[in-house]
Amino acid sequence: MNVPLLDLTRQYSSIEPQIKAVVEEVMKSQYFIMGPRVVDLEKKIAEYCGAKYACGCASGTDAILLSLMALGVGPGDEVVTTPFTFFATAGCISRLCAKPVFVDIDPSTYNINPDLIERAITSRTKAIIPVHLFGQCADMDPINAVAQKHGIPVIEDAAQAIGAKYKGKRAGTLGTIAAFSFFPSKNLGAFGDGGIITTDDQKLYDLVSILRVHGSKPKYFHKYIGINSRLDALQAAILLVKLPHLDKWNEGRRANAASYNKLLSGMSVGLPTEQGGLYHIYNQYTVRVPRRDECREYLKSKGVGTEIYYPVPLHLQECYASLGYGRGALPAAEKAADEVMSLPIFPELTAAERQHVATALAEFMAK
Ligand SMILES: *Cc1c(COP(=O)(O)O)cnc(C)c1O
Repeated sequence: MNVPLLDLTRQYSSIEPQIKAVVEEVMKSQYFIMGPRVVDLEKKIAEYCGAKYACGCASGTDAILLSLMALGVGPGDEVVTTPFTFFATAGCISRLCAKPVFVDIDPSTYNINPDLIERAITSRTKAIIPVHLFGQCADMDPINAVAQKHGIPVIEDAAQAIGAKYKGKRAGTLGTIAAFSFFPSKNLGAFGDGGIITTDDQKLYDLVSILRVHGSKPKYFHKYIGINSRLDALQAAILLVKLPHLDKWNEGRRANAASYNKLLSGMSVGLPTEQGGLYHIYNQYTVRVPRRDECREYLKSKGVGTEIYYPVPLHLQECYASLGYGRGALPAAEKAADEVMSLPIFPELTAAERQHVATALAEFMAK
């Protein structure tokens, strides 16, 4: 049996006629960039999250970049974030000639450790970017408390967390401004790149809306220097078909996670934990295993797809050598990078496939 890490074709076949119909409509209209479908999607995503405003853009990366730009982050500034995330989180900070300041993670959630944030804050700190990694919200109450104490805005990197909740509130409403990604492997995936920003702050919303179109308002009058980061009408049309299914798909992932938790409970495998009051949407189901690389090879030989998110914490990336962190600087993130492995968790996974994954893991553990 082959169990891929992610099989998007199953989801597609469940909505193929509806997708084809809207793609056809967009093609007939020949209206490709922004337009009414993007406006409709922005309204529906804002409603879904419970945010006042949403602003579509070209990717999750750009959603982070535009948020930082709107907050005025620039040369000489520092932004506090986690080293255990996809590169984009920190890359956007560096692109604006600001400096990422990495704070170690809580090993039980893989999210930034709120207790370590305050000592990383200096007079140059312009923002904090917690990441809701794997689909579980960072511990936002203590993060917001430190941020408020120092008057620093909080950008949620919610790329992996659309639909996740923290104490009843959805990701995208937990900080000053939030960035989502519609990369195909995210829980709400487009047919290509796409992203969206949510916020309750009208000034920030106006700014990101202007910055995504080269800083112009009205057209050809440039008050700011922005970028080209627009959402395609095609992507918006596809996402509008998918959005009504999102909660059901997230529930499917949660059910798969619950099933794995049972199947793997007797093994010496570190299972993901769901913190009290949180609603984890399992963009990834990430375990810790001994002899991780050997384990992956064994699973591969049994047809089970896995991936390592992430093998190198950002403070140890070659491009960040000049920041001067060495091995040992952020031990919890380094340990996680050495031990984690993500298993197939997509909603359409069958019971037989979950069992096959569990059996293969059990065989490896017994070796
Ligand atoms: C996917 C992802 C991004 C970037 O999103 P893109 O749409 O691929 O640009 C940023 N941060 C995290 C944590 C992600 O998982």
